[in-house]
Amino acid sequence: MTEKKLAPGARIGIVGGGQLGRMLALAAARLGLSCHIYTDREDDPASEVAAASTIAPYDDEQALSVFASAVDVITYEFENIPASSAEFLNAIKPVRPSPAVLALTQDRLVEKNFISGLGIEVAPFAQVDDAGALARAIAQIGRPSILKTRRFGYDGKGQSLIREGSDLAVAFRSLGAQPCILEGFVPFVCEVSVVAARGLDGDFVAWDAGLNTHEHHILAKTEIPAPLGDDLRARARDKAMRIAEALDYVGVLAVEMFLVSTPTGKRLVVNEIAPRVHNSGHWTIDGAATSQFEQHIRAICGFPLGVTHAHGPVEMINLIGDDIFRWREYLGVPGACLHVYGKSEARPGRKMGHVTLLKTAERDDDDPPR
Ligand code: AMP
Repeated sequence: MTEKKLAPGARIGIVGGGQLGRMLALAAARLGLSCHIYTDREDDPASEVAAASTIAPYDDEQALSVFASAVDVITYEFENIPASSAEFLNAIKPVRPSPAVLALTQDRLVEKNFISGLGIEVAPFAQVDDAGALARAIAQIGRPSILKTRRFGYDGKGQSLIREGSDLAVAFRSLGAQPCILEGFVPFVCEVSVVAARGLDGDFVAWDAGLNTHEHHILAKTEIPAPLGDDLRARARDKAMRIAEALDYVGVLAVEMFLVSTPTGKRLVVNEIAPRVHNSGHWTIDGAATSQFEQHIRAICGFPLGVTHAHGPVEMINLIGDDIFRWREYLGVPGACLHVYGKSEARPGRKMGHVTLLKTAERDDDDPPR
């Protein structure tokens, strides 16, 4: 593998062509870097703003090889590319975060074992390979609990809530009778995430934790700061740092957590790691000193990391499906920063854009359009 010190003028390869790739490419351009997108779909949002694109299947070794030869460093913007493709690319140009990180986060069981092995609390969990194992897992963990496929789950897909009376065989079959994990249902007060970055030299920074609200299992809103208090904020940051260090991570990652309140105090239970820039970090483009996208580019290029402080309280609202048609209204809201991803069709549940509301900006009307 050829390792060289990167500088403005270098070309970054991004595997995946969605809005995360688009915002990475825009941030890279600001630093004088150009991007080459590798996607399996025509008309992806990232290709539109990148210097070059390859459209080919994610396991096409010839196309992967040509792509890798044309760039200086490679990253990915979604987790579901084959780990073997990341390994293949890494033999030609450095892939950051590493293919090992990608493989670990692609399997919920491996990921949960890793996190709990660090002494960080996760929901009680058990491996479920067949319906019999599910019955044993339920006997151990109880109900309610959530059956999740080990691989390829996102936005609540590949999950089944198991309540009193739920038929276990039906639940297992409904997920395709594939390897799963059962997780105890965490009675959380709210969901928070820490978006953080680790540089090539091991430097670690994190943005303030965000409070995340989901609708229909899709992130609807992130508010900064999350209502955690100093102690919990520090503990949230510390968990993200321990995870990043144990993974020898390079780039931006997000750690999603549940806040649990018991008579003896509040705790943070880690739900999952996203090895990439994350929707709950979109507020950083307009609301922080350094955006998560620029930070990821800095980290994978071996540049110094930027400071992460927020300019003030911020709210990020996802524009999902038809919400995007309100773009004109949002443009009229003082302190609102509109981001449109350029997707041609506003399908239900599809992330079409987002709005960042800077709460310190002077506004005639405190409420965004609903
Ligand atoms: P995930 O795909 O693991 O991020 O799960 C999607 C959403 O399902 C989370 O954001 C939570 O709202 C909910 N969820 C997932 N796992 C659990 C759990 N063990 N207990 C309670 N809620 C959960």
